[in-house]
Amino acid sequence: MPNDIVIAIDGYSGCGKSSTAKAVAHALDYTYIDSGAMYRAVTLYLLRDKISFSDIEAVVAALEQMQITFKMKMEAELPLYETYLNGENVEREIRSMDISDSVSEVSAIPQVRQAMVGLQRNMGANKRVVMDGRDIGTNVFPNAEVKVFMTADLYVRASRRQKELKERGVSVAVSEIVENLAERDQIDSTRKENPLVKAEDAVVIDTTDLEFNKQVQRVVDIAREAMQAP
Ligand code: C5P
Repeated sequence: MPNDIVIAIDGYSGCGKSSTAKAVAHALDYTYIDSGAMYRAVTLYLLRDKISFSDIEAVVAALEQMQITFKMKMEAELPLYETYLNGENVEREIRSMDISDSVSEVSAIPQVRQAMVGLQRNMGANKRVVMDGRDIGTNVFPNAEVKVFMTADLYVRASRRQKELKERGVSVAVSEIVENLAERDQIDSTRKENPLVKAEDAVVIDTTDLEFNKQVQRVVDIAREAMQAP
């Protein structure tokens, strides 16, 4: 019997972590968990309720009112994961530029991180998960059997993100996306609590010139090997 494992995929914004993680989860029949979606849902809640990010008491009270869950449905024979905030499907809304512009500030709040990390650890307690984010291999699951750190050229990442948004009917200038990705990378890598850093034992995959199927296969191969480890 292969071992059940945890696969942690971390890296910079927009370098293909989530699409890779989803495809890997599908190939292995594992559950995909999008930790970034959880920080995005918290951001949406705070913005809707006009709660100041610096009012920590109000942020903590708001966290107690939030229930963040994922639902999976099959579409064209592929699993589609959607994020729910207190029972409402917010998948589309949390991908907007408004949320992207504020999420790194929100995710740097220690109380927000503690709450989300607790939920993420529960979701992965029985293993068989692929989780993508910024601190999965360093903080959420430091003992994950597979750790991948993804990176790619900033302009390549921005044009891929622009294409993704366009497919969802949202048109954004590439320069705006470059600015957003660079700013998030900067905040995420320099925050005090669980910054984005490569775990010492993570395998680095640079996707700048890598075909999507090849990057997925690379992670699947690493995972299958880890599943056979004694
Ligand atoms: O992965 P995604 O780009 O959707 O994540 C949105 C933001 O959530 C990141 O820019 C980062 O600020 C935050 N995040 C985090 N830790 C994670 C996942 C995401 O701080 N594990």
